[in-house]
Amino acid sequence: MADGAMKSPLVQVRGLKMHFPIHAGLLRRKVGAVKAVDGVSFDIFEGETLGLVGESGCGKSTVGRALLRLYELTEGSVVIDGEDIATLAPDALRKKRPTMQMVFQDPQASLNPRMTVAAIIGEPLDEHTGWDAAKKTARVYELMDQVGLNRRFANRYPHEFSGGQRQRIGIARALALNPKFIVCDEPIAALDVSIQAQVVNLLEDLQDRLGLTYLFISHDLSMVRHIADRVAVMYLGQIAELSPREALYARPLHPYAEALLSAVPEPDPTMESRRQRIILKGDVPSPANPPKGCNFCTRCPKVMAVCREVEPRLAEVEPGRFVACHLFDNNAGGQASPGAEVREHNQQGEQR
Ligand code: SF4
Repeated sequence: MADGAMKSPLVQVRGLKMHFPIHAGLLRRKVGAVKAVDGVSFDIFEGETLGLVGESGCGKSTVGRALLRLYELTEGSVVIDGEDIATLAPDALRKKRPTMQMVFQDPQASLNPRMTVAAIIGEPLDEHTGWDAAKKTARVYELMDQVGLNRRFANRYPHEFSGGQRQRIGIARALALNPKFIVCDEPIAALDVSIQAQVVNLLEDLQDRLGLTYLFISHDLSMVRHIADRVAVMYLGQIAELSPREALYARPLHPYAEALLSAVPEPDPTMESRRQRIILKGDVPSPANPPKGCNFCTRCPKVMAVCREVEPRLAEVEPGRFVACHLFDNNAGGQASPGAEVREHNQQGEQR
């Protein structure tokens, strides 16, 4: 995180739901909904990188897209830098767009093959500024320098570049309008392993230099451990645990986070020799028909009777650590951590 200090929240997400209707029959009647994201609340502090992890299909990419209002929200609010983007009128949303950008997973698919690098990087400037050609070209060169692309390549086309270079082009385009907040949606998943670290290092470097705030969505838990300040673990459209990185990797609290992290190799050989993999039984239930009570109850090794009836709420069970699990809920008869103060992570946002 830039400057290393926690600041005020730049992004405040409260009760975010993204339900996609299921239609069936000749009349295409609505017969249900896929609850891709089902009541998610969290903050992202200025200059922070929040990692968002979980298995594929858990809803993490949908959260990223909803935060930038690439979807219309089913419910909830997303306040970015003081404005609820969920309710902004189209004109106001357009004005807001420059401050929030996205880096996509597949640079190949997200870059127009018929446009030169200069045109791709300069496209947001065409849309949002009235600059003349000379000013735009100067900005494009500046952005190419920032991401480590040689200016001589400005008139080349995306297919002439490697995957890593194409991702640099995508990052330069995202930076064109000086955004504050960037959603990085699996930005390294399509790249060779040898290139992944370079792109992550570039993102970190840019964050330090430009004071950026990131939501870093990834299924690569080792990379998230490297880049994130705090990490939210998602399961079936909800947040199971949100904790500072070190605390989460050293001692995950939620049984799902515990299982997920048990698959991550430990850098320390002594710790690695003690690592015990937790294999979960069964499949992830359909988000169109999540189980009653805790959404993890069909696979949880620590399931209790209450879990099949009552949905656990995300609550602060240790300072800065939020968990949705009855094991930490005194009122539900579970075993809370000794001395833990369980506070609901409520709609007003009491994270520090
Ligand atoms: Fe497991 Fe129950 Fe906790 Fe859900 S609430 S994670 S089922 S112990």
